[in-house]
Amino acid sequence: MSDVVKELLKKLSNAHGVSGSEGNVYEIIRKELRKYVDDIREDTLGNLIATKKGNKFSVMLAAHMDEIGLMVKFIDEKGFIRFVTLGGWYAPTLYSQRVVLHGTKGKVPGVIGGKPVHLMEEDERKKGVRVEDMFIDIGARTAAEVEELGVEIGTPVTIDREFTELANGRVSGKAFDNRAGVALLIKTMQQLESPFTVYSVFTVQEEVGLKGARTSAFSIDPDCAVATDVTIPGDHPGVEKKDAALEMGKGPSITIIDSSGRGLIAHPGMVRWLKSVAAAHDIPIQMEVGAGGTTDATAIHLTRGGIPSTTLSVPARYIHSPVEVLDIHDIEEGVRLLLEALKVKPKL
Ligand SMILES: [Zn+2]
Repeated sequence: MSDVVKELLKKLSNAHGVSGSEGNVYEIIRKELRKYVDDIREDTLGNLIATKKGNKFSVMLAAHMDEIGLMVKFIDEKGFIRFVTLGGWYAPTLYSQRVVLHGTKGKVPGVIGGKPVHLMEEDERKKGVRVEDMFIDIGARTAAEVEELGVEIGTPVTIDREFTELANGRVSGKAFDNRAGVALLIKTMQQLESPFTVYSVFTVQEEVGLKGARTSAFSIDPDCAVATDVTIPGDHPGVEKKDAALEMGKGPSITIIDSSGRGLIAHPGMVRWLKSVAAAHDIPIQMEVGAGGTTDATAIHLTRGGIPSTTLSVPARYIHSPVEVLDIHDIEEGVRLLLEALKVKPKL
């Protein structure tokens, strides 16, 4: 299955879908799932809900489609473009990146510029570049030329970075957060044999406040939920295992709590369910108690009277950068786990 998953992730990673403009990703998912589900629909906010009908017990799976990106907020008279960030960027990662502006006349290439490092004062260099110091250069000489190309206030912007293969079944690209989860759910739905009704929700606007998960969980009102996302492994220089104990290539992780309990405190029944299925089928998993970061499960588990939830995550290095790295096998093991779990009712 490795190559199939790799190809799918490649397609999803190269697609563009900043929070609020997830349309391109949506089209890929729709094409992949159309033949395999009973119903596939878009809700008011833009969530894509794929349903496979079964008995009364219902499970919601969630994966956010959106990626972190930028939006045009001001165009100066010389055609340089100022932007806001959508989602959690570390500003120095943006400096000198190539970007794609999704204008009214199609894609426009650009680069993120800033003050030349040669001209920076020593303290400027030390402090690091800030978002306010940067701008997008599309080669235009005037504001009118920018407009002519279909770029305007509100144009969404994404990073321009192609998927690439590294050694050992590892791959690198942008937006693995959370196209990894999207690939995991697509592969699960394509092979699903479950007695339950399973809703796969590809959510919007996670990176700006878990928004799509909130509205879709409310309307679906499932008996339980599993969100899929990426999480931080501590298996490379600069991180200690005591601070991030997960490793890439050792299987997906099951969240016990994230964000030190301020995000999700998973329902113990949900954790036991996935853990016991993994043990019964020899599927490698890792357990996660996270200190920072959260997922769609945080919004879902607080919906209505409370929905038993946990998160299944793919360890991915350098997340929220254009060079995220993951091991394809972790996605495959995640698919195996969900396929087996969805045959057994969790004890809640
Ligand atoms: Zn994410």
